[in-house]
Amino acid sequence: MNNSFFNKKIGIPRAISYYNSYPFYYGFFKSLGIKIILSDKTTTKIINEGCKYVVSDTCLPVKVFAGHIINLLDKGCNVIFVPSIQSTDYKINNCSKIRGLPEIIRNVINRDFTMIEPTLDKTENIDFKNFCTQIANAFEIKDSIRIKNAINAGWETYNRFCKMTQSGICYQEALKNAIEGKLIKNTVEIVKPLSVVIMAHGYNLFDDRISMNLIKKLEKMDVKVYTSINVSREKAISSIKALGEIQYWANELELTGTAAYYLLNNKVDGIIALSAFGCGPDSLMVDEMTYHCKEKGMPLIHLTIDEHTGEAGFVTRLEAFIDMLMRKKRRLIDKNSHKITKQITEIVEINNNKILTGSMK
Ligand code: SF4
Repeated sequence: MNNSFFNKKIGIPRAISYYNSYPFYYGFFKSLGIKIILSDKTTTKIINEGCKYVVSDTCLPVKVFAGHIINLLDKGCNVIFVPSIQSTDYKINNCSKIRGLPEIIRNVINRDFTMIEPTLDKTENIDFKNFCTQIANAFEIKDSIRIKNAINAGWETYNRFCKMTQSGICYQEALKNAIEGKLIKNTVEIVKPLSVVIMAHGYNLFDDRISMNLIKKLEKMDVKVYTSINVSREKAISSIKALGEIQYWANELELTGTAAYYLLNNKVDGIIALSAFGCGPDSLMVDEMTYHCKEKGMPLIHLTIDEHTGEAGFVTRLEAFIDMLMRKKRRLIDKNSHKITKQITEIVEINNNKILTGSMK
């Protein structure tokens, strides 16, 4: 492949791995001198386009991914990044759709374009350095020092992003600052009457169209929201272990790991599971968390989404859940305030007795 064909540009669909890895890709491609063309933010048109190509029982994120490929092709971008992420650690696997993403796209979109389709498979010893080298090689960049520097640049941007999100800065703000080379600090810890954690894949939650602005909706209800980007990888892994579970899925840290961390630390009033209709891994992880939540008396709601999900029904379920959490919290406060009143009465009675006993002597 020659450089003039690629013209050092790559189209990245704003879907699937974009939501977790874009800060890395940004630093990496910039350092290699490759210009990124992003697809537009997800719209109903993009979803409908994707649905035309992918069979109906495929999950929504894959349909959305296909829609973003069409969006890039319509922009005139014909070199597109479609990674095949098989496993992210030894025997920590992705679902078959993410593993076979290049195959799905090749077979359903019959248009003239080139896919950059590196494989990451740590189970088979294809590590992240190898993954990055495959990308660079596709652009005929073979210099190992240049590739190493690009990987370091990718991690630098990614680590900036993580530092900000783990300090409580929201996804969009952290992303914007990370790619601008800035590192800002969160100085104010906002306290709200209720707090929840959302267990969901980044590609479902941070895509405002797919999640129907779930985070903003909760914030408008005066609810503090925690998500996977607020929890470090180490904390998520140790929380899964602390629950007595074994990590199997690559995206498990975003779901079980995140929910387990907030459940075990008693930091939230409820858990919201958001997943795509028909997603096998999510149904297993949500079932697992439902079991642990029941044991610990933590309310959990499971919201599923597909291309037909209506916003009205979604909001009704969400409001009912938040309303239930609020009533539960009020009951708890009332119960505790009775306890406190009883304790004060007892202390006063004891003290009065002492005074009485003292004065009789
Ligand atoms: S993990 Fe679930 S939602 Fe994600 S691509 Fe696989 S089946 Fe679809």
